[in-house]
Amino acid sequence: MRVLGVARVSTKEQATDAHFSFLSQRTRIADYAQTRGWELVDVIEYVQSGGSNRRELRDILRRVEADRIECVVVNELDRLARDMVSTMLFLEELQRVGCRFASVSDDLDLTTPDGELKMMMLAMFAHYFRRQLSRKVKGGQAERAKQGKRHGERPFGYQPAGDSWAIDSQESEVVQQVYQWYLHEQQGFRAIAKRLNETQVPGQKGRIGTWDARTIERMLRREVYAGDIIYQKWVQTTDREGHRHTQRQTPQIVRDSHPAIIDRETWNATQARLAVRQSLGHRPQHSPYLLSGLVSCGLCGAAMVVLRTGHRRPDGSRDPVYCCRAYHTKGACSTATKIPLDDLEHAVLGALRAELQQVQQHPTPDQIAHWLADDPAVAQAQRDRRQTEQRLQAIPGMLARAEEMTLQGVYTIDEYRSTKSRLQAEQARLQAALQQSLLLPVDAHAVSARLQSLVATFEEVLAGDPDVGRSWIQSLVERIRCHPGRHIEVTWRS
Ligand SMILES: [Zn+2]
Repeated sequence: MRVLGVARVSTKEQATDAHFSFLSQRTRIADYAQTRGWELVDVIEYVQSGGSNRRELRDILRRVEADRIECVVVNELDRLARDMVSTMLFLEELQRVGCRFASVSDDLDLTTPDGELKMMMLAMFAHYFRRQLSRKVKGGQAERAKQGKRHGERPFGYQPAGDSWAIDSQESEVVQQVYQWYLHEQQGFRAIAKRLNETQVPGQKGRIGTWDARTIERMLRREVYAGDIIYQKWVQTTDREGHRHTQRQTPQIVRDSHPAIIDRETWNATQARLAVRQSLGHRPQHSPYLLSGLVSCGLCGAAMVVLRTGHRRPDGSRDPVYCCRAYHTKGACSTATKIPLDDLEHAVLGALRAELQQVQQHPTPDQIAHWLADDPAVAQAQRDRRQTEQRLQAIPGMLARAEEMTLQGVYTIDEYRSTKSRLQAEQARLQAALQQSLLLPVDAHAVSARLQSLVATFEEVLAGDPDVGRSWIQSLVERIRCHPGRHIEVTWRS
């Protein structure tokens, strides 16, 4: 009988453990074949990489067919593959091409395709892999404990609970309130701090009146409120002169290590808003201009400031123009573009009109969702879509769990297969539903009516008092970028 040996080691074993080294596996396989009078054609060696070994198994099958191998011999059962499901499928493939299988250490000689024996083997596989899995899980828990453990000062809103953080019901309400004020009421750090001090909300150490802008900003930026922990390692090194240096390594994020106070969507939106604020610098509250604080340079990202350097008026004053602050103050930007205030304001109105025109011709699902966010039918369709997306995202995890259940012997292979095909069918159905949901209930008329009223209001605002119109503009416009060539890009607030 023509026999192919398969030897496998992990990288760690390769370096340290003689018992599992290639040589020892090779010798044992050769001895085994010899005592049975089999012809050992070759022994292939694999070093176990991190992931799945399906490619290796395909290689072996190719060899089996090419070299007319009649039996594959391994040293130990769990040397063949890391997960049982691929091992099972592999053994089936072997059977299909009429190849047999034997394992030296497990004294398994399946050279006669005996059904009962095969069942025994399956049971043994289950046993082996269960042991492997429990080892893996224990290792994983140790790793998690090492990384996800709470550390450092108690974050406002949490109380220590074992190795983790638990939500403090009173303080967490304050945290939620702060995010709400910042994100939905567009309040600044200082205004929020003032509000908390005025309403006598106790701070970190329980004292009244300790809130300030920095505490608020820090609270808005902390990933701890989204349930994540950031782990920063400090490494000490000693240089040639004997001086010690402390260096920070790339931070590691442990996701969902404890209950979140702020849902991820809100937290991400807050970070986006903080980033916009940072790029714009301080947003002036008492500025005579309608678009104050919204305009930034498309080239360098700096805020645009209003200068009075435009056309000379009859009374001797000059027209106001927008100019990149980095260019104006430091010459740090290469765009010398100056845009007259009127031109910029009308360009934004033009962008709104263009949006209206586009909607009247071919409204996109995104535009409908954007401009009709208040419409119950659209909101419902959006929620359905998000739900479908979430269910789709959950499927790979469910597949992995089914695989794990099979490893633990809870599912039979048949049950695993039927679960797998059911989940795959569900996946296909959800993908189709998602495609379908892109065709939202298109009420183009409602969208264009809403846009028309916005255009009308905008025109009134342009003609009126900037102080009155500014908050309306800020509720409509997220950001205005001026690209070279006076190309204006408007981002509408959602
Ligand atoms: Zn610039």
